[in-house]
Amino acid sequence: MPEDNLLDSALTRLDDAAKHINVDADVIEKLKFPRETTKVRLMIRMDDGSRKSFLAWRCRYDDTRGPTKGGIRYHPDATAEEVEVLAFWMTFKCAVMNLPYGGGKGAVQVDPRTLSKAELERLSRAYMQAFSRIIGPDRDIPAPDVYTNAMIMGWMADEYSQIVGQASPAVITGKPIALGGSLGRGDATARGGYYLVRHLARDLGMDGRLRVAIQGFGNAGQYIASLLASDGHKIVAVSDSGGAVQAAEGLDLEALQAAKSDGHSVVVTAGKNGHEAIPAEDLVGVDCDLLVPAALENMIHRGNAASLKARLVLELANGPVTPEADDILAQRNVVVLPDILANAGGVTVSYFEWVQNKQGYYWEIEEIHAKLRTIMEREGRAIWKLAQERDVTMRTAAYVHALSRLAEAIEAHGTQA
Ligand code: GLU
Repeated sequence: MPEDNLLDSALTRLDDAAKHINVDADVIEKLKFPRETTKVRLMIRMDDGSRKSFLAWRCRYDDTRGPTKGGIRYHPDATAEEVEVLAFWMTFKCAVMNLPYGGGKGAVQVDPRTLSKAELERLSRAYMQAFSRIIGPDRDIPAPDVYTNAMIMGWMADEYSQIVGQASPAVITGKPIALGGSLGRGDATARGGYYLVRHLARDLGMDGRLRVAIQGFGNAGQYIASLLASDGHKIVAVSDSGGAVQAAEGLDLEALQAAKSDGHSVVVTAGKNGHEAIPAEDLVGVDCDLLVPAALENMIHRGNAASLKARLVLELANGPVTPEADDILAQRNVVVLPDILANAGGVTVSYFEWVQNKQGYYWEIEEIHAKLRTIMEREGRAIWKLAQERDVTMRTAAYVHALSRLAEAIEAHGTQA
C-alpha cells in the first residue's frame, strides 16, 4: 500500500470512488495526472545585501470545471509532489461544493519564520512576478494556505495589478478587507467545518456536549476551538509544532490564544489553569469524542490510527488521514468527515470573495454566513445520504459526489478536452 507516496496514495481514493459509479475510463485517465506544474527558482535580496534562492511551484491540476483555484503554501518541506497532491484535492474539493473552479496549488520551499517582513514581501512579490503568466482572475486564482496569510495575498494582488497595469482584485482571494477581501474569509475554513458537524450531529449520534481535541492551533484550529466552545463543547487538548497541552475539564482558550499571539507554543500554558503538557504525538490518542486534525498531511497513519478514542474526525487539514488509517478507522466505526468536504468552507468563501470582486459589490457578514451554511449543509447532506445508500464511508461518498460532477463536465467538453 503506497502510504509513503503522496500522489499514489491520494489516487487510491479516486480508484475507490470509480468503483461506485459508472464513469468513462477517459475521465479517470484525465484526473490521474496534473495538467501542468511549473517550477521556478525565486531569487531575492536579503536585508544584509546577500542574494538567496528558493524553489517555488504552481500546479494547475485540472481546469475542466473552471479556472484553477487553490492556496499557496510556504513551508520548508514543500515539494513538487506535495503541491500536485494538494492541487488534486482542490480539484475534488471545488467539485464537492459545486464551485465553478478546477483545482490548483502553489508552494515556496521556505521557513517564513526565518525571514524579516521586508524579505517576506520581496519573496511574495517575486512569486507573483514568476507566475504572472500562469495566474489570472479567469485562469488560476491563488489564496492563503499553511503559513501564508492576508498580508501576503495583499502584496501578491498589488504586484499582479502593477504587472497588468490595472486593479485586478479577483486574481487572488483571502486578501485584506481594504484591498477587496471578503468579510468572513478569516474563519471560513473552521466555520464551514463547524456548520457541517452541527448539521450532521444528530445523524452521527453526536448531539450532546462534545469533548474535542485539536491538532494544530493555527488559523483553522483556533477558530474551530472558539466556535465549538461557544456552543458549550469542551476543548480538552490542543497541539502545535511546539508541543501539546490537555485538561480533562477543558482548556482555557483565552490563555492559549494569548500564548499564540505572543508568538509562543500552546505548551507555555502548561502548569497553569489546569493545563498539563503532553507529547504532541499523543494528541491523536487523547480521550475525546471529536478529533480535529488541523495541521498537515499524514498525521493519522497506520502507526497511530488504532490509538484514537474519538468517534468522529473532522479533517480541517488537507490529507491528515492516510488510506491505511482510513481502513483502520472504518473497521472501528470511527466516522471521518473528509477534508474535501470538511475544510471546504475556506475555498467557498474565497469563491464569494471572487464573485464580489467581479461584481464590485460587497456583501454583509450575515449574508456570507448564511450562504456558506446553506452550501455546507446541502453538500454535506447529499454526501451523507450517498454514504448511507451505498454503505460507504463519508470519504468515498464525497469522492463519488465530486467525481460524478467532474465526469459530467469532462464529457460535456467533448473529445478535445
Ligand atoms: N488553502 C485552502 C484550501 O486548501 C483555501 C484555498 C482557496 O481558498 O482557494 O482549501
